Amino acid sequence: MSTRFKRILLKVGGESMMGDRPYGIDPQAALAVAEKIKEVYTKHVEVAVVIGGGNIFRGIAGSKNGIDRATADYMGMMATVMNGLALQDALEKVGVPTRLQSALQMPAVAENFIRRKAIRHMEKGRVVILGAGTGVPYVTTDTGASLHALELKCDVLMKATKVDGIFDKDPEKHDDAKRYKTISFKDAIEMDEVQVMDTSALAMSKENDMPVMVFELFKGNNLIEAIDGEDIGTYVANDVKTELV
Ligand code: UDP
Repeated sequence: MSTRFKRILLKVGGESMMGDRPYGIDPQAALAVAEKIKEVYTKHVEVAVVIGGGNIFRGIAGSKNGIDRATADYMGMMATVMNGLALQDALEKVGVPTRLQSALQMPAVAENFIRRKAIRHMEKGRVVILGAGTGVPYVTTDTGASLHALELKCDVLMKATKVDGIFDKDPEKHDDAKRYKTISFKDAIEMDEVQVMDTSALAMSKENDMPVMVFELFKGNNLIEAIDGEDIGTYVANDVKTELV
């Protein structure tokens, strides 16, 4: 079966794990994310997943409440490992073999992140879940996703968001917002009123030519359609013209 992308890095925000809850993990939401991953896994696409932690703890919020920023960020990284465990559980419930690797050492619950081992897991048909982002504070899991996409030689970074792509204005506030079909990294970075991804992560993807697809995970069959080569969400790359749909 031929697909547009053979190996993807999927970045899933922590909020997709909480369903309708105000906080934490809803096992049904975790299963819903797992089902989406299963769809591409069954097409023999190699999948690495970077999971966020925003449903549990974000360092920046902790530091506003008086916790030292670096300490708070480590707490945030630990939150991503909790989500990783929940996602691992959900994926295995739907029959997808997984390995959880963590950039912070937690050998009782996750393998240490080892690049070549992560690649090997994917080659053997396991979905690799990557917890703890980069393993260092002052950045977010978007940067972790960009780094991991590069070192694991993924074809694309698929960044799942609440809205389906990058718009010329905030679609949650403006009915007439238009979606970009494609946008160059240069334009995406300059459009700082539209925040879809950390600028540092976008800059790293730009410098190293790692295309990013920004899309909504739960809209129709978005993920599988992207894999099949259809235009969904917004494709960000160096070699594309900035074009609205
Ligand atoms: N974090 C970090 N370094 C990393 C990745 C994450 O310090 O490489 C911390 C940071 O505090 C962040 C938190 O972990 O706020 C949770 O990750 P993120 O906010 O990216 O989660 P998401 O918004 O994707 O759910």
